[in-house]
Amino acid sequence: MWKVIRPDAVKVLYDTKARASLSHYFSVMENKKPAKFMVSRTIEVEKIKGLNLEELWKLHEEKMREFKEVEEIASLTKLKERSPSLLDLKIEIAEKLMESCILCEHRCRVNRMAGQRGICKAGKELVVSSMFDHYGEEAELVPSFTVFTLGCSFKCLHCQNYSISQWLEKGEEMSPEKVADNVDQARRNGSRNLNCVGGNPDQYLYSWLRVFSKLKENIPVVWNSNAYYSYEQSLLLDGVVDLYLLDFKYGNDKCAYEISGIKNYTIVVKRNHLKAKESGDLLIRILVLPSHLYCCLKPIVEWISENLGENTRINLMWQYYPAWRAWEREELRRRLTQEEMKESLKIAKEAGLKNIIT
Ligand code: SF4
Repeated sequence: MWKVIRPDAVKVLYDTKARASLSHYFSVMENKKPAKFMVSRTIEVEKIKGLNLEELWKLHEEKMREFKEVEEIASLTKLKERSPSLLDLKIEIAEKLMESCILCEHRCRVNRMAGQRGICKAGKELVVSSMFDHYGEEAELVPSFTVFTLGCSFKCLHCQNYSISQWLEKGEEMSPEKVADNVDQARRNGSRNLNCVGGNPDQYLYSWLRVFSKLKENIPVVWNSNAYYSYEQSLLLDGVVDLYLLDFKYGNDKCAYEISGIKNYTIVVKRNHLKAKESGDLLIRILVLPSHLYCCLKPIVEWISENLGENTRINLMWQYYPAWRAWEREELRRRLTQEEMKESLKIAKEAGLKNIIT
């Protein structure tokens, strides 16, 4: 059915630029290589219980070195799972990070394991709004089994998913086993990937890692995030995420603070994009905001070109419309003009970027 709905989802399979920048993703999607979480399940860890956080991180560093060596030669037919594994170690660390939560750079330090909640308002377990095969994502992702979870670390005035991100919905708390069963079923029915999104996926790292530990099928993991996760989280994502689908929203901290209420935006997001490129494949989404072409878009694309390379695949998104509290800012009360769309593409090309989706 997806071949009919999105013919470009077939065409992209022959797109050399897409394949060059997302080569790992395509290999897993086509079952030529195991997903990273499957490799993490083969790395044996001698002992986890009873270790303190510092000892767990030390062990993680050592086991990640082993992961990188094994991943190079890993083949789907020769995987032997271990217990406890590197993935179990990641779960243990994520649980400890939630006891004084530092999963994102808000660093709320609330004990979510004891029921406290921070800025994202997320509790201990995944709360799901909906999950289904999404046909509106980038061609290479479609059909994308997308799990929308509640809550977000951002409060973007123009949020187009505000009923999810700001908990206007109730959602359903779901066990990792139930989510994994749905993902396995979707993969067997032809989904190309598991798309972890929200809101934002970052606050649910502990649950997501447990989902990955329950999956039976080989499926690429897409981490569809606002890229404001903590450095500690970036270390845990390395070894389980195949494709980082990261937003790059603002080119300066003033716009980030005024529109999304976020401090230290640029330093955190740049750090996470650099780490993502090192840890897996990277596809960057830039939602072009009206009147933010020179304060935001230009510095973003110039930084990407210079630091991540001119062949970095970016999705220049023109679908902005005023939603939620966008009326609070004059420039956000309208859609992009035709001139702004053309100009944004010109800015991205002039920055040297050569792998642009529009
Ligand atoms: S994930 Fe939520 S609770 Fe944890 S630091 Fe971020 S906003 Fe705070």
